[in-house]
Amino acid sequence: MRTAGAVIIGGGVVGSSIAFHLLEDGFKGGVLVVERDPTYARASSRLAMGGIRQQFGTAVNIALVQRSIPFWRSFDERMGGAGDRPRSNFRQRGYLFLVKHDQVPDFERRLKHQQQLGVRVERLGVAEVSRRLPDLALEDIAFGVFGPDDGYANPREVLRGFRAGAERAGASFVEDEVVGITRLGASGRRRVTGVRLRGGESIDSPVIVNAAGAWAARIGEMAGIELPIRPVRQHLFRCALPGRWPYRFPMVIDPTGVHWRHDDGDSGSEEDRIIVARTRHDEPVGENFACDESRWSREFLPPLLARLPRFRDLRVIEGWAGLYEMTPDANPLLGEPPTLAGFFVAAGFSGHGLMMSPAVGKALSEIIREGRATTVDVSPLAVDRFERGAPLEDAATL
Ligand SMILES: Cc1cc2nc3c(=O)[nH]c(=O)nc-3n(C[C@H](O)[C@H](O)[C@H](O)COP(=O)(O)OP(=O)(O)OC[C@H]3O[C@@H](n4cnc5c(N)ncnc54)[C@H](O)[C@@H]3O)c2cc1C
Repeated sequence: MRTAGAVIIGGGVVGSSIAFHLLEDGFKGGVLVVERDPTYARASSRLAMGGIRQQFGTAVNIALVQRSIPFWRSFDERMGGAGDRPRSNFRQRGYLFLVKHDQVPDFERRLKHQQQLGVRVERLGVAEVSRRLPDLALEDIAFGVFGPDDGYANPREVLRGFRAGAERAGASFVEDEVVGITRLGASGRRRVTGVRLRGGESIDSPVIVNAAGAWAARIGEMAGIELPIRPVRQHLFRCALPGRWPYRFPMVIDPTGVHWRHDDGDSGSEEDRIIVARTRHDEPVGENFACDESRWSREFLPPLLARLPRFRDLRVIEGWAGLYEMTPDANPLLGEPPTLAGFFVAAGFSGHGLMMSPAVGKALSEIIREGRATTVDVSPLAVDRFERGAPLEDAATL
């Protein structure tokens, strides 16, 4: 029987960030991360788009990304070691929301709120949007909202870097699957004592962290805690641009929901590419990784062409699908449920977990070591908020 100060279930960006921050903050007793798939073939962290934006509608979501931005800026240095430096390619090219006339009051409110919270975000007139991105058709657009500090990073390198950084800080990664969680005490207020692994081993620990992404509800079941987190498929397509594009795209968010960003590599000599997404809000719940290629011509291309006719010459390189980890209010569950001591949840990010993973790691480290998060007050994201009838409404979740 092994023992650990903390066992983290799931070694994606969230689990790895929590391990890194715990150790950096001086947590004693050893941090063990159990990850069943070292190739991360189905992990959302590997399959993500890599968008990083502060432009949310609630103070807590804004703060989680605001706090993460300095970390993203220094990610490669902080996570790198001798002879191994990640290339996360965090590019602060901004997020540009294109706003239609009937959306004006909502975006004006949102913009004011974000500015009051210290986010650099500005209203761009149509002529200015057109000056920056000359190929856009903007007849139906009232203005743009641009956050110059937002941007995007390469998810695979972020995942690799976070894991390497956590290992360098002293975390041990175990390749196995958690199949059970042991508990002590009477119902009402139990406490966790450890985990059982598929390989037959058990690990004793007073701290268990559920960072199992789209599979987090199953871990909850093992602990007797119902977590309203459901897997929902999300498609992305990588496309080659017709030749080198004369300028770089920020993340552009069209009112139809289609959004795209540049996907340029390290050297600038590769084929010029973009990644395109469009969320379907009627996508059924389920662990479905099949990429429906027909969505490109049916659902992605028409709004793209209407906005940017030169995209008619795009060539699809590949499409893929991964899982969003949806909660009823599309916001994460963070913290310790009141009925199970020692069980900490960091899951349900609903498609925006990568961008906030640095601050989430810090918040969980504080909650585990000190009983509450002080860097960012994450209490609006408490695990039992739905039972208490206190969901968090954020109109700016995509
Ligand atoms: C197509 C797509 C696009 C996205 N775009 C963005 C974006 O632009 N910006 C953004 O911020 N976010 C984006 N996201 C969301 C983001 O990827 C996730 O919120 C984030 O990666 C969650 O990280 P995680 O570590 O919690 O989960 P994951 O990366 O899924 O990691 C969970 C890990 O837990 C492991 N695991 C599960 N069960 C067990 C078990 N029983 N035992 C051991 N290991 C287990 C899994 O193998 C997995 O590796 C996107 C997601 C998708 C699918």
